[in-house]
Amino acid sequence: MSSHVWCHGTNCHKSHTQDRVRGSKGSKVLRTKKVKQDEWNTGDRRNMFSYFCSNGCYNDFANANIERIVALAPRNEPLETPIDDPIKDDKRYYGRWNITERGVDTQSE
Ligand SMILES: [Zn+2]
Repeated sequence: MSSHVWCHGTNCHKSHTQDRVRGSKGSKVLRTKKVKQDEWNTGDRRNMFSYFCSNGCYNDFANANIERIVALAPRNEPLETPIDDPIKDDKRYYGRWNITERGVDTQSE
């Protein structure tokens, strides 16, 4: 496995940071950052930081591809989590309701 992937952020190469500057004098570029693959973002720990150098790059990608992303798991019905009748618990926090979940929610994925 490669030890890095290129950040998938759509504008990663547009950020004006020193660590993106590459190339020889007279032909410099801003280059997409590498995302190191290590024990914190591979295997069972695979996550957004396996493919993106930052939250900003992740958001840029998600916003550019939002219709395709939500099409992966369309939500046409709300999810529900069964709960006991809520009890107002003024002793803990003003206005806070003590809500106890019971059973499993309706999410089937
Ligand atoms: Zn990036």
